[in-house]
Amino acid sequence: MGTTEYERLSADHKIPIVVTGFEPIDLLEGILMCVEQLENNVAELQNQYKRMVCRNGNDQALQMIQTVFEPSDRLWRGLGTIAMSGYKLSKEFSRFDAESKFMTEKITALESQLCISKEILLGQKKPKECSAFGKECTPLTPLGATMVSSEGTCAAYYKYQRIEID
Ligand code: SF4
Repeated sequence: MGTTEYERLSADHKIPIVVTGFEPIDLLEGILMCVEQLENNVAELQNQYKRMVCRNGNDQALQMIQTVFEPSDRLWRGLGTIAMSGYKLSKEFSRFDAESKFMTEKITALESQLCISKEILLGQKKPKECSAFGKECTPLTPLGATMVSSEGTCAAYYKYQRIEID
């Protein structure tokens, strides 16, 4: 996808954004670039991962995405439906659409009443403010999106809870 879509995000919210690779040295350099922006009161999009990511992205892949998919509303676990936040298959490829073929639109997953992952995802609350954290909800018995994946906020807090970072 390239980096252009992040430029507006950075400008609108006045936050530094750095695209990085996955190697430790990439992440360290990305953090340094962010810190330098913050120290210099700059908020822009920078690309640390130039060896792989170019500004306009992969033309061929982007064209294929536009042919096969079209933007649509999507349900995000913990957050609810966000308008035009995802993709669905375009009309040309709708015969491959499992959602309509198996009529899954009406199937909904029950979310735990205890779970406050929406507030966690929105940065309004910390995992330890959830009454189920570390009790009913652990990585082995996750109740919400933010505990299910190992990189989720609640899972990270659970794993590193001996380090108090609040
Ligand atoms: S600790 Fe579990 S129940 Fe609480 S917000 Fe996180 S995922 Fe949801």
